[in-house]
Amino acid sequence: MARKKQFKAESKRLLDLMINSIYTHKEIFLRELISNASDAIDKLYYQSLSENDSAVDRSAFKIHLDIDKENRALVISDNGIGMDKEELEENLGTIAKSGSLAFKEGLSEEEKKDEAVDIIGQFGVGFYSAFMVASRVEVLTKKYGSDTAYEWSSDAVDGYTIEEAQKDSCGTTITLYLKDNTDDDNYDEYLQQYEIERLVKKYSDYIRFPIEMMMETQ
Ligand code: ADP
Ligand code: MG
Repeated sequence: MARKKQFKAESKRLLDLMINSIYTHKEIFLRELISNASDAIDKLYYQSLSENDSAVDRSAFKIHLDIDKENRALVISDNGIGMDKEELEENLGTIAKSGSLAFKEGLSEEEKKDEAVDIIGQFGVGFYSAFMVASRVEVLTKKYGSDTAYEWSSDAVDGYTIEEAQKDSCGTTITLYLKDNTDDDNYDEYLQQYEIERLVKKYSDYIRFPIEMMMETQ
């Protein structure tokens, strides 16, 4: 078993906000994850152009969405640049680098809730927004040009682990294990194809790479 690592303090605060978010537009998590997938493809796209790398088939770039009803999971995959171990640690272990967030110290619980709404509404909150809908998040990723894949996983509350893993091609696959339904929130809606399609249309229409989805077999 890999050793559990704790999130940096500022990341922990954002995570707390996300986990306990009363924000009504939790659905924006999908926009954030698709935008990250698109950024990752962009990076490989431009790298392959500038290095004149013919091994990269730029016409094959895409984002893939999968619904796994049996495991109550939503899976977002891209064949972009991926991350190595250090990048996983840096990028998902801390939000300190994110320019879009400025944290205020000493907020009351009420203010924190307002703050969450404020932050989420005004900026992209990024990767951690996954924890508004998921109790566990797994990130399987392989950096372009590397032989080793890694899996980052976290249930937010007690940190994250990074372990070596198996993945054939470069890119990133993010699996969201949805939270249990409550009286106020029905997370099962993110297992409905029409709902996912609606969210893609609403928030990710501008994405320049194809967003594919496996048709459900009933
Ligand atoms: P931002 O997109 O504003 O940088 P995020 O919290 O959305 O912040 O993501 C943090 C970082 O994690 C990204 O900058 C990127 O380096 C990395 N990352 C997230 N998702 C992916 C992905 N699908 N592929 C590669 N890197 C990713
Ligand atoms: Mg982002």
